[in-house]
Amino acid sequence: MEKPHIAVVPSAGFTHLVPILEFSKLLLHLHPQFQVTCLIPSLGSPPSSSKAYLQTLPSNIHPFFLPPVSKEKVPPDAHLTIQIQQTVTHSLPYIKHELKSLCSRTHVVALVVDVFAHQALDFGRELNLLSYVYLPLSALVLSLYFNSSKLDEILSSEHRDPQEPIVFPGCVPLYDRDLPQPCHDRSSLAYKQFLERAKRCLLADGILVNSFLELESDTLRSLKVQFGGKPTIYPVGPIIQSLSIGQENGLECLTWLDKQQPKSVIYVSFGSGGTLSQEQLDELAYGLELSNQKFLWVVRAPSSIASAAYLGTRIEDPLQYLPQGFLERTRERGLVVPSWAPQVQVLAHSSTGGFLCHCGWNSVLESVVQGVPILAWPLFAEQSLNAAEITDGLEVALRPKASKGGLVERNEIAKVVRDLMEGEQGTKIRDRMEHLKNAAANALKEDGSSIKAMSEFAAYLRDT
Ligand code: UDP
Repeated sequence: MEKPHIAVVPSAGFTHLVPILEFSKLLLHLHPQFQVTCLIPSLGSPPSSSKAYLQTLPSNIHPFFLPPVSKEKVPPDAHLTIQIQQTVTHSLPYIKHELKSLCSRTHVVALVVDVFAHQALDFGRELNLLSYVYLPLSALVLSLYFNSSKLDEILSSEHRDPQEPIVFPGCVPLYDRDLPQPCHDRSSLAYKQFLERAKRCLLADGILVNSFLELESDTLRSLKVQFGGKPTIYPVGPIIQSLSIGQENGLECLTWLDKQQPKSVIYVSFGSGGTLSQEQLDELAYGLELSNQKFLWVVRAPSSIASAAYLGTRIEDPLQYLPQGFLERTRERGLVVPSWAPQVQVLAHSSTGGFLCHCGWNSVLESVVQGVPILAWPLFAEQSLNAAEITDGLEVALRPKASKGGLVERNEIAKVVRDLMEGEQGTKIRDRMEHLKNAAANALKEDGSSIKAMSEFAAYLRDT
C-alpha cells in the first residue's frame, strides 16, 4: 500500500525552502511510514542553489515546482517580506490546484506550510487536512506572533516611553531596535502583513518551531501557560543542513582553514543575501585588518539595501569594492571569498573560533550546533530580535556598538573581534556556547526533547 503523504508548502527564497525540507528529511528519517510532496512557489525561475539542493533529497520527498511568478508582478523595491508574501499570494491558485489533485490521487494526512505560506492553510481546512505551520525561526519570534495584538497595542500607545523595554512572559526584554523590521513603520504594508501572519498562524492545528526546549525553555513554557497549548507547539530543532549546498569556494576555504591554528579564525558572513553599504564595507575591512586576528570573510557587492541579494545573486565581482591594497596587506592573515562559502563545514572546522554573523536564525543554530561564539551584526527581518536573544538573553554573543548614524566604525570592530577571539568576555561566551552545543546534541538524541516532540507530531498524524 502506498505510504500516506504529507503535503509541504515552502515560500520563496533559498532559506524558506531548505529549512522546511530539512525538517521533512528528519521527520521521514524518524518516521518512514510517511512520504512528502513539496509544492514550491518561486519568484522568476528558481535559483540554482535551490535546484542544486533539491538534487540531494531522498526519494521519499517529491519536489514539485509550481509555475514561477513573473518578477513583474512583485515590485522589486518592495520590502523583502512583501516580496516573499506576494510570491505566495500569486502562487495560491497553483497551490490549491496541485493540493486538490494530490488529495484526489493519494492519501494525504496533513499539510505543513512555511510561515510565509500561511494563506495555504485555508486549503488544508477545505480539504479536511490537519494543517501545520513550520516556523524556521525562534520561539521568541513565535512569542511575538502570539502576543502580536498586545504588541500592536503597546506600539500604538501615545503614552509609551520608547526607552522602556517591551516584556513578554519568558522572553528577553525587547527595546525598539530589537523589534523585527516591519514593526518600525506601523503604517506599512509589511507591518500589516506581519500582524496578519501572526494572527493566522494561531489558527493552525500546530506549529513546528525550529528551536529546542533547552535553548528557549522560558519562552516555550510561558507560551504554553499563556495560551493553554492551543495551537500545539512542537519544538523540533535544531534542524540544520548537514552539509552546505554549493561548491563555490569550498575547497579553497577548507584548505585554508586546515593551515590555521585551532579556534584562531573569525568567520565573517551575512547569510544568503545580506549586504553592507560601501561605507560599512570599508569600515569592516579596516576593522578586521586592525584586529590582527585571522579571518575568513564572505564578501558581497555593496548595496544601500541590506537584503539586496536575498532573492537573487548579483554576478559582479565583489572583491573590487574592497579598500585599495586590503587584500595584499592581509594576505597572511585573511582569506576573502566572493559571495558564498560552505558555512556548515566552515563552522564545523576546528580552526574556526568565532562567527561575525548577521543573526539569521539558521546561521545562529548552525553556530550553536558547533559551539562557535558569535559577534552579532543584524541587518534586516527578525535578525535584530535574534541578536537581542543571543546577546542579552543567552549571553553567547557580543555586539558591536554603532555610532549615531548607524555606522559600526573600524576601531569598534577591531575591539569586539579581539574581545571575542582572545578576551576574558570571549572565554565566558565560548564556555556558555559549549554548554548550548551539548544541549543541542542532547535534544536530538533518541530520548531528547526535540525527537520526542517529533514523535508526538507523527503519532498525532497517524492516529487522527
Ligand atoms: N549560507 C552558506 N554560505 C554562505 C552564506 C549562507 O552556506 O556563504 C547558508 C547558511 O549556512 C544558512 C543559510 O545560508 O543555512 C542562511 O540562513 P540564515 O537564516 O542564517 O539567513 P538568511 O539567508 O535567511 O538571511
